[in-house]
Amino acid sequence: MVTVKRHQRFAKIALELAYAVNGDVTYQLCALVIKKNRVLSVGYNSKKTHPMMNTKTQQRHAECDAILRCPEDDLSGADLVVVRARSKAKAGLARPCGACREMLKHCGIKHVFYTTNWDDETTPNIEQLDISV
Ligand SMILES: [Zn+2]
Repeated sequence: MVTVKRHQRFAKIALELAYAVNGDVTYQLCALVIKKNRVLSVGYNSKKTHPMMNTKTQQRHAECDAILRCPEDDLSGADLVVVRARSKAKAGLARPCGACREMLKHCGIKHVFYTTNWDDETTPNIEQLDISV
């Protein structure tokens, strides 16, 4: 049983991290790989490219970056939370793209959560992405 509340707490942390990073990007996204209530890795989107990104530009999405930085090889059963910071503590839509969805599925990630547009500064709204299909 996945508790959305627990992942909302992770989403809030990720939002602060995404906002704090001043990268070379227009959109600030941050992804966390979580296993057994522990954060295994943190990733950010960047203009760096990676062949694992099966997109036209191959720009590294936060989900991909988090997977690459993960110290554990076995990610089966892990969860991923991805957020987009519009401003401090304000979330934007961070629904993973098709390429990331395929990659996460391939890595054995079990549950994926992403933020939706949300202005309330207390708790970011998250949705679960169905990656089984
Ligand atoms: Zn993506």
